[in-house]
Amino acid sequence: MPAFDALSFWNDPDFAGRLQWYRAVAANRLPAKYLICASIPAGVPLDAPEAALWQALEAGTQAFLALQRRIRAGEAGLAADPARPSLLDLVAELGRRMLSHCNFCRWECGVDRTRGGKLGVCKLAAETRVSTYFHHRGEELVYRGTHGSGTIFFTSCNMRCAFCQNGDISTDRENGEPVSARTLAAMAWILRVEGCHNINWVGGDPTIHLHTILEAIALLASGEPSKGDLEAALAAKADWFARFPRAPGAAFYRGRINAPMLWNSNFFMTPEAMKLLRLTMDVWLPDFKFGPGRCALELARTGWYWETVTRNLRLLRDWGEDFTIRHLVMPGHVECCTVPVLEWIAAEMPDAPVNIMDQYHPDNYCDPGNPKFQERYWPLARAPRREELLSAFAHAKRRGLRFEALSLERSKTGVML
Ligand code: SF4
Repeated sequence: MPAFDALSFWNDPDFAGRLQWYRAVAANRLPAKYLICASIPAGVPLDAPEAALWQALEAGTQAFLALQRRIRAGEAGLAADPARPSLLDLVAELGRRMLSHCNFCRWECGVDRTRGGKLGVCKLAAETRVSTYFHHRGEELVYRGTHGSGTIFFTSCNMRCAFCQNGDISTDRENGEPVSARTLAAMAWILRVEGCHNINWVGGDPTIHLHTILEAIALLASGEPSKGDLEAALAAKADWFARFPRAPGAAFYRGRINAPMLWNSNFFMTPEAMKLLRLTMDVWLPDFKFGPGRCALELARTGWYWETVTRNLRLLRDWGEDFTIRHLVMPGHVECCTVPVLEWIAAEMPDAPVNIMDQYHPDNYCDPGNPKFQERYWPLARAPRREELLSAFAHAKRRGLRFEALSLERSKTGVML
């Protein structure tokens, strides 16, 4: 995919030395992590007790990291045939096991979602629904590139942000179409062969659908979807009417479908979920919204927000992962949320590219024009003032953050800096 590889933003100082794994996988110069995982043996029978599976995952992760380093350095390649069962199969199996005592996210509800009786905070049993999927032209340039980000929107969420800008999806668990892992794999396959630069897992939040996503990635690694799966996948495609010439040659690494996986999430995952995602996600897009005070509790009914998101961000840093951070400036929340978030990033990961987003608009329970509007959210029923946005940008600039390339590309306010 030379056009993507040649885009000028790669030369921007904000990206110097960053996102190079993602870039190489997007351009098919390197295999995605899932293909590397598929070539490493699981090292354990998949019907072993869960504790043994986690133990094997630890050993498998070390084997993965060693092989990834050698492939990156040009000293090794993928095995000729995928292992059976592979580390990737083990990752998918652990996702299934976790579902039966769900601890995908920090709520750690412990419910058995395979039975569908008692439900957790996300109110989901085992079924996964996709609201829509398409070539997303609205993401940051580094993700939308020239052919769009292959974005799959999942229904429902594990947080309750009163102002959610995707409220129709996140608050309605019946939204969209039920999908199997096979259909999901077919969606990812279609998006990639149509030229998308990545597979962008988002919602709501994708974490609550972790089991289906991991299984779909394992299926993607096993070959081309069937005609029936491809037809089933078209039901939820929002841009089905548009012509995207298929270019399978631009989507393959040495004969295998190859696509960078992008985790676009509120980052409220458990360490166990992070361990599985580490082996399957090539690039991460964490949303870091609320400060360390009570705002997450009052505006999103979510406890443990700050400690969970910062813990997961530190993992990305310590693991040397590719990521960019999003921060949405909320009206009246510059001092309590924006400033501490930017301060934390400056102290902990000053090189991380940040998108300070200025597009907040009153939505969902904060929109006076919406029947769901609640009086207590009047302070959030407005856009951020110009001086609030300028203050956010100025603060980032004072702290030397790498925010301009991502934030100012489409900003109406930041260009005044
Ligand atoms: S995904 Fe999170 S909110 Fe949903 S049941 Fe599992 S732990 Fe609970």
